[in-house]
Amino acid sequence: MKIIFLPHCLRNTDCKAKLTDHGYQLLNCGKCEICRFKKKAEEKGYKVFIVPGASMIKKILKEYKNPELVIGVACDTELKEGLALMKKQKINTKGLKLLKDGCVNTEVDFEKLYKML
Ligand code: SF4
Repeated sequence: MKIIFLPHCLRNTDCKAKLTDHGYQLLNCGKCEICRFKKKAEEKGYKVFIVPGASMIKKILKEYKNPELVIGVACDTELKEGLALMKKQKINTKGLKLLKDGCVNTEVDFEKLYKML
């Protein structure tokens, strides 16, 4: 099992996706790159979760035990915390820092992210 965690703040501000126990249930509306990326990643065997924060990541990791790889995108602080958490659980992890952080309208280098798949 390979898992990707993306922060919910990467979504277009008009995103109508609903929050569930496993992150946002996306609607493929085409307003941003997230859904295209998710589809591509799923084709390559990843499970992709768009999450509001670390507590949901912990919950999901309890369910999907011992993933072979976790890719995480986050701001500097959350990325450091996330990588430390994964290291503690001995999970193989790759992290990518947001280009622009904040709580809405964040940005990531999707070109780099696609290359990480
Ligand atoms: S493409 Fe997906 S993530 Fe982006 S706004 Fe639409 S439903 Fe939300």
